[in-house]
Amino acid sequence: MKLANRVQTLTPSATLAITAKAKALKEAGHDVIGLGAGEPDFDTPDYIIDAAEKAMRQGLTRYTPAGGILPLREAIAAKMLRDHQLNYETDQIIVTTGAKHALYTLFQVILNKGDEVIVPSPYWVSYPEQIKLAEGTPVFVRGEETNQFKLTAAQLESAITDKTRAVIINSPSNPTGMMYSKEELLALGEVCIKHNIIIVSDEIYEKLLYTDREHVSIASLSEQLQKQTVVINGVSKSHAMTGWRIGYACGRKTIIKAMTNLASHSTSNPTTISQYAALAAYTENESTLKQMVASFSERLDYTYELITQLPGVTCVKPQGAFYLFPNVKEAITMTGFEDVGAFATALLEEEQVALVPGTGFGAPDNVRLSYVIEPDQLAEAMRRIDQFIKRHT
Ligand code: PLP
Repeated sequence: MKLANRVQTLTPSATLAITAKAKALKEAGHDVIGLGAGEPDFDTPDYIIDAAEKAMRQGLTRYTPAGGILPLREAIAAKMLRDHQLNYETDQIIVTTGAKHALYTLFQVILNKGDEVIVPSPYWVSYPEQIKLAEGTPVFVRGEETNQFKLTAAQLESAITDKTRAVIINSPSNPTGMMYSKEELLALGEVCIKHNIIIVSDEIYEKLLYTDREHVSIASLSEQLQKQTVVINGVSKSHAMTGWRIGYACGRKTIIKAMTNLASHSTSNPTTISQYAALAAYTENESTLKQMVASFSERLDYTYELITQLPGVTCVKPQGAFYLFPNVKEAITMTGFEDVGAFATALLEEEQVALVPGTGFGAPDNVRLSYVIEPDQLAEAMRRIDQFIKRHT
């Protein structure tokens, strides 16, 4: 049967594909070390689970308003004020089925056919597909490794055309873990204001930071920038709640209203029980976050040490999120594999180590690995990668 044109060119998420392959091998009895996953290895904290259970027992199991329950939107407004000194009315906030669906809905409501969205590369795998599904055109601009993979204001300026509608800023970034400074954001923001471009600021990793630098939301840098920006965030990474599927967007009323209308015909509402769980996440203590960040930071240092000793591998040290994005170009040349995909596939088949080829992130010289697994498993994975490269050299 012929499917719709819009899904003909849709590629499945590279991250999910490798995770699924690793899972299948594991189920078949292989000793697989999965470095592909994009989620904390912590369980959702008890106080959040208790809140969800309480909500269910109280009968809070029915439909909610399409844009989310008012107390949760109030809690998100309070969080934006607390963390970024940003004021949002509750009708400037929509709660969504994960940050992913906030982004999906946003592109649906801001893009017309042929509108361009500037996507700094390397990028999170879903941005281009979501833009294309909204009939937009992703325009990739390479963030140079020498500039920590970040987009500069000059690069942004020269990529703008009369069709440019939006730019994505993802800080800290998946896959690179790099963060934009206040000065860099101000310079990018100036260009966006000059050309009246919407800034899509994906801040899902804002709480997972491993240097003493603070996360800055571009929306917080001026009133005009707040108007120009749609902030995307959620509880998935900050509260170890990936499966609960709660995200949100904050922005202009017109955009949020359109997103809410669309949600009312697609999801009806984000899962009611999860909304009450997220309400607890934003209104009760954050002690588990500190514990999680300390643990991730330790594992980052540990893995970074090991990975930079691998033959033919270099790596810029990430500042946030939970990924390393090493450059393996020389290792690929040394081992004679055709490309990074072939390299990663052989590594999984021969050494049972699953990592994600950079191709899906727009970076064919790199691989992405998540280091939030047990340290002894990390050490074993690095030993196997080392062995793999040396065997093929
Ligand atoms: N944005 C980025 C950069 C991500 O890495 C992810 C998840 O991997 C998301 C958004 C989506 O998060 P959620 O689980 O809330 O849909």
